[in-house]
Amino acid sequence: MSAMSERTRIRRLPAKAVTERLELDRVLDAGLVAHVTVIDHDVPLALPVAYARRHDEVLFHGSTGSRLFRRLADGEPTCLTVTLLDGLVLARSAFESSMHYRSAMLLGTATRLSGDDELDALRTITEHLLPGRWQECRQPSAKERTATMTLSLPIDEWSLKVSEGDPEDDPADVIDDTYGRIWAGVVPVQESFGPPRRAVDCPDDIPTPAYVQGWRR
Ligand SMILES: Cc1cc2nc3c(=O)[nH]c(=O)nc-3n(C[C@H](O)[C@H](O)[C@H](O)COP(=O)(O)OP(=O)(O)OC[C@H]3O[C@@H](n4cnc5c(N)ncnc54)[C@H](O)[C@@H]3O)c2cc1C
Repeated sequence: MSAMSERTRIRRLPAKAVTERLELDRVLDAGLVAHVTVIDHDVPLALPVAYARRHDEVLFHGSTGSRLFRRLADGEPTCLTVTLLDGLVLARSAFESSMHYRSAMLLGTATRLSGDDELDALRTITEHLLPGRWQECRQPSAKERTATMTLSLPIDEWSLKVSEGDPEDDPADVIDDTYGRIWAGVVPVQESFGPPRRAVDCPDDIPTPAYVQGWRR
């Protein structure tokens, strides 16, 4: 299936739909947190998870003790979203005020990875979140591997919605004597890293790694 499946066709504000796979990859590669849905005893839950894209899959991991992860591994259909907030849109009216965003939604069924494939997935997730770290940090032990479940969701059926541009005010508000004098525009929102802070038990003579100093967001 593709972006244009009937289930993932954007009906509300379809002009904001983006169907290029390259753009989807850009959004997935820019985000750090995904939300994965699972139904638990008729209660829908959206789990925030760290994730990474590996070619045509989105990878995420959790505890083998997690009931919710086990449900996903057992083949429960899921929806994974990644949301990047790019700005607050101030229109003249409260109704037209909105947000700039890039929002990806994937539908499908996750499968559990094992062996070297799982190890590569763990490396991919670590390197997506902490580029440069995998080669320096201690590798997962057998016990840690046993405690970890790594899932793969194929990038098969997806949608991407992008909201950008000026506020879309009611034309009557723009020329209104009162409302037309209200400031309108966009306040960009950006995610950024602060300066690295040393752990209390990290000796002072260990320098902050160059790869960490190079992180920009
Ligand atoms: C940061 C942010 C804030 C938002 N705030 C609001 C809000 O306050 N109120 C509001 O009504 N809407 C808001 N939206 C938009 C909202 O996510 C839905 O797109 C919108 O409500 C339309 O819903 P619908 O059921 O009519 O979608 P439809 O267009 O009928 O959905 C059909 C299909 O389109 C796809 N789709 C729908 N929405 C999205 C999406 N956001 N990203 C990717 N694919 C999508 C899915 O595959 C879905 O199955 C916000 C979106 C973002 C990212």
